[in-house]
Amino acid sequence: MSEIRELYQALIIDHGRHPRNFKKIENANRVKEGFNPLCGDRLTVYLSVEDNKIVDISFEGAGCAISMASASLMTEALKGKTIDQAHALFKDFHQIVTGSEGEASLEKLGKLAVLQGVAEYPSRVKCATLAWHTLIAAADNINKKISTE
Ligand code: ZN
Repeated sequence: MSEIRELYQALIIDHGRHPRNFKKIENANRVKEGFNPLCGDRLTVYLSVEDNKIVDISFEGAGCAISMASASLMTEALKGKTIDQAHALFKDFHQIVTGSEGEASLEKLGKLAVLQGVAEYPSRVKCATLAWHTLIAAADNINKKISTE
């Protein structure tokens, strides 16, 4: 168990220091900023969505290792997924970081499962979920805009 824990820790540190997809998407059609005042984490999520599918996703920002690693892992997990799949994945992810996981949801989460240790630190849950809340807000915003066009 402690070996797995160390592996998870190493992955979080790696993604925290060298976040993947850390850039601006110039032609993104969904952009949203998120802020976690409890920790000072701040990020912007860029989405390029076509036919309800996330064809590209990236983020920029600054914050603690947990928030950066979570955003980095999220972008890797969601590229090529549909908005509905993103919602479903966030539901599972939220369960594991708040400590109410089942085995099935851990399996579905793949690499995102490395953040399950956050459940032991309730004050860090907002760090781990900031990118996801921002992503969901971005998705929902544009859905509203599309319906008025
Ligand atoms: Zn944080």
